[in-house]
Amino acid sequence: MYYIDPHIHMVSRTTDDYEALAKMGCVAVSEPAFWAGFDRGSADGFRDYFRQLTEFERKRAGWYGIQHFTWMCINAKEAENVELSREVIAMMPEFLDRPGVLGVGEIGLNKNTRNEAIIFQEHVQLAVARDEQILIHTPHLEDKYPGTRMILDMLADHASLDRGRVLVDHVEEHTIAHVRDAGYWAGMTLYPTSKCTPQRAADMVEIYGPERLLVNSAGDWGPSKPSAVPDFILEMRLRGHSNELIRRVVYDNPLEFFSQSRNFEFHPPELPETADV
Ligand SMILES: [Zn+2]
Repeated sequence: MYYIDPHIHMVSRTTDDYEALAKMGCVAVSEPAFWAGFDRGSADGFRDYFRQLTEFERKRAGWYGIQHFTWMCINAKEAENVELSREVIAMMPEFLDRPGVLGVGEIGLNKNTRNEAIIFQEHVQLAVARDEQILIHTPHLEDKYPGTRMILDMLADHASLDRGRVLVDHVEEHTIAHVRDAGYWAGMTLYPTSKCTPQRAADMVEIYGPERLLVNSAGDWGPSKPSAVPDFILEMRLRGHSNELIRRVVYDNPLEFFSQSRNFEFHPPELPETADV
């Protein structure tokens, strides 16, 4: 089954991963800008990273027939440095009109601090002013629920924001309904050390339905599994769910969400899928 991974940090992965994903049916990935595992020393460090995301990574994915899309921002962890963050935000317009750049992300909160909130709001202002889509990271573990609430409250300040063009990622059982009931898209992240498993994601599809719901692997430089979306597909199949429902979550939904971005030029795979098995 063809699928799209809407949140995966491929700069941290090998070409073997690209090859494996392509063999498993991955036709496109979207890669939000994120923390590199260390804090960058200057805005120029981000400029180089943004060039990597918009130039070389796009090409590298193409070697395996995978279309690569990306998002620009300074992540929540480095947003603690307000001065550096403002320099990066001022530089982002250089990249937001490049081919394959879908919007502003992944912005959000890490430890729910005041500085993180300030920079979150400044990113949202930039996105609203430029009519960009937004991809949002929610914090982990005990910080997730209060952080998600803070994010939804901050977004509510922006009356002109089109909520159907905002994805709130890393939802879990205690946050998914808050996100979707407010009109946003929700992303479930399958991750071995924290976040959600394929089984829990399948449970959430069964309980809440597939509307405005995405599933991703977040594959990054830490212990993570870039093939987690195929694990979810297998779990759904073993539970007897239809290909139509599975395809909606892993292919149709990301296409519907990304299609709202002016830089989303997608070339669907040419061959029809052979069989619904
Ligand atoms: Zn991420």
